[in-house]
Amino acid sequence: MRRFFSSALALSLVLSLTACFGPPVDPDTVQESIQVIAMDTPMVISTYGRRSTGAAYASEDLIRDLEARLSRTEEDSAVSRLNRGETVEPDEDLNTLLRLAACFRERTGGAFNIGIAPLVSAWGFTTDHNQVPDRSEIDRLLKVVDETAPQISPEGVSLEPGQSIDLGGIAKGYAADKLADLFREYEIPRAMAQLGGNVLAWGDRPDGSPWRVGVQDPARPGEQNAFAGILNLKNAFAVTSGGYQRYFEQDGKRYHHIIDPATGYPAESGLTSVTVVADCVSDDGMGTLCDAFSTALFIMGEEKALDFWREWQGVSPSLFDLVLITGDGRVVVTQGLAESFTLDEGSGYTLEIVS
Ligand code: ADP
Ligand code: MG
Repeated sequence: MRRFFSSALALSLVLSLTACFGPPVDPDTVQESIQVIAMDTPMVISTYGRRSTGAAYASEDLIRDLEARLSRTEEDSAVSRLNRGETVEPDEDLNTLLRLAACFRERTGGAFNIGIAPLVSAWGFTTDHNQVPDRSEIDRLLKVVDETAPQISPEGVSLEPGQSIDLGGIAKGYAADKLADLFREYEIPRAMAQLGGNVLAWGDRPDGSPWRVGVQDPARPGEQNAFAGILNLKNAFAVTSGGYQRYFEQDGKRYHHIIDPATGYPAESGLTSVTVVADCVSDDGMGTLCDAFSTALFIMGEEKALDFWREWQGVSPSLFDLVLITGDGRVVVTQGLAESFTLDEGSGYTLEIVS
């Protein structure tokens, strides 16, 4: 009898504790989600695990801090001071970004060039006043887009008169790299960070399946869930550049924000978007690389982009893979993503896998 009472007491204790605290929670499935508008982009960051809340709020601080230091529309940022003609002593982040940008400019044959800023401004993409500049103005500005800007010396970093830089083609990728470091520090088992077209799919989903990353159909830019296809990814960056992301129309023609340094005009390469995918665990800095390459390959066009990918395959196989969407209705996917990419059958695109 006594034993019965003590077991009954134990059972009721367990039941009441369960009622108070709920069933035991798997710490890896605890989730926090935040939305941030920064770097001119709506962002969503969802983190999982015991320290998900701390990591999510630290992510926001990290992004805002980078923006304050790197944006050229923030008056006091180091980049703004540089663009105003001051010699600036770069902090570690700016120093890294300038060196990487110089490296990517060289690797992409000049397609990626942060010195394109005067033209981005002339087209009005840093303000709300978009316009088609005069041909003479474009030619004049192209002359100041120097291959070597900015100059880096022991005194600091500086630009020649008329020159300016714009880290918009690389900063979100760099932020994604820093988020990966932060998730590692906070021991976050899984997370999904969407910084506009820059996605970091960290770990896997709570049920162990890959994250599903939609590749926007460039022909239906404003529509939610209008995808050309889905990428199923674990531990990866997926960065998309497209002419549909930021544009204006004048006299019935559309002008977007990715400027071809060879012409000074928005790139017209036949591609409507480029997505670059890479592992976020094995190598450092891949988020930044994906961001720079997605911008550059969009400018290069299908043939040159695939040649570029094949060249890299020879140097570092599987370092990154591509999803190219063409203006004539094809989705061209490189071999490494053959298993991960699923075409949206209703989208009307045809799928080509290339090696
Ligand atoms: P988004 O920033 O919309 O995600 P991208 O990463 O492709 O898209 O970057 C586009 C931005 O990069 C432009 O808004 C501009 O600030 C800058 N940019 C434009 N053309 C170039 C270029 N040829 N090289 C480097 N940066 C560029
Ligand atoms: Mg980019």
